[in-house]
Amino acid sequence: MAVDFISLTPEERSAWILSLGQQKYRLQQIEEWVFGHGVLDYMQMANLPQSLRDKLAQSNIPVLSAKIVAESTDGGTTKLAVELIDTQVVEVVLMRYRHGLTLCVSTQAGCKMGCVFCATAKSGFVRNLTRQEMLSQLLLANSHLRAKGERVTHIVLMGMGEPLDNYEESLAFIRMAVGPLCSISARRIAVSTCGLVPGIERLANEGLPVTLTVSLNAADDELRRSLMPVAQVYPVNVVLAAMHKYAEKTKRRVTIEYVLIKGVNDRAKHAQELAQKIKGSNFHVNLIPFNAVVNSGFEPPLPAAVRMFLEVLSGEGIGATIRRGLGGKVQGACGQLRGTLRK
Ligand code: SF4
Repeated sequence: MAVDFISLTPEERSAWILSLGQQKYRLQQIEEWVFGHGVLDYMQMANLPQSLRDKLAQSNIPVLSAKIVAESTDGGTTKLAVELIDTQVVEVVLMRYRHGLTLCVSTQAGCKMGCVFCATAKSGFVRNLTRQEMLSQLLLANSHLRAKGERVTHIVLMGMGEPLDNYEESLAFIRMAVGPLCSISARRIAVSTCGLVPGIERLANEGLPVTLTVSLNAADDELRRSLMPVAQVYPVNVVLAAMHKYAEKTKRRVTIEYVLIKGVNDRAKHAQELAQKIKGSNFHVNLIPFNAVVNSGFEPPLPAAVRMFLEVLSGEGIGATIRRGLGGKVQGACGQLRGTLRK
């Protein structure tokens, strides 16, 4: 794979800048532009001498080898298609909330987990992304936001792929995001998993106060197995036990994601089953009305079913919210990332 600036180790960056006949402080200037300001074009690095900018632009080390090849926007949601060095395209979603700008990062091209309601699963698994490819998504999003004077404030590892199935690279990306160059607080980063228990247990011991989000979608094992193959390996009680341990160890509240699908898991008995399993815990439930995926065979729930589900949980003293329907039109909502955007 060809190399880019962000893939160089600190030592390689130092050697590279020296090989260009420059002093080390020039490297800090470049890093400030790239990580602090979202500037990915050497020619725009205004405090570098023109001769150096020319030299850098002609060098065989671009700032990034990944690039945005398409975008679509729907209200507060923007979906970016990012082409990687091997022409794989992954999707990244920027969501505007009252508290800031959240970036939904992809961790794999495709996914192995096979959740039946998920658009990403339909295209199968291609490969894991590297830590630099995840970082590229953040830097490209910041570059995209630069014209508006904005930058990403929160990150969720919830795009294409299962982050805990690509554990080392996902973790290394988080460590770079919270490091001195990007400076995003770990408390503003969430890792979303379909319930890979060993990964949850490992994450709990990393000393990183990131938020854990678990996609549960059913409290009954048989129903969950029919929606999510991972449930054949990790039953609901085992997943819940890992979540309790995570909350205890990190002192962070854990979120349960529950995609409501019409006639499948959106009835009163499903809400009661969930309530019985998590009553008395500090888990928060995020209800996500299913977004229509073409040819999925599933439909969005009726608004009355969503309200009823929320009421059952609230009635049992469980904190629950309905996720604002962000990104439905741009297919950037949960389980809808499939690489449909192209050049
Ligand atoms: S919902 Fe998440 S874990 Fe399940 S198949 Fe889709 S991307 Fe993979």
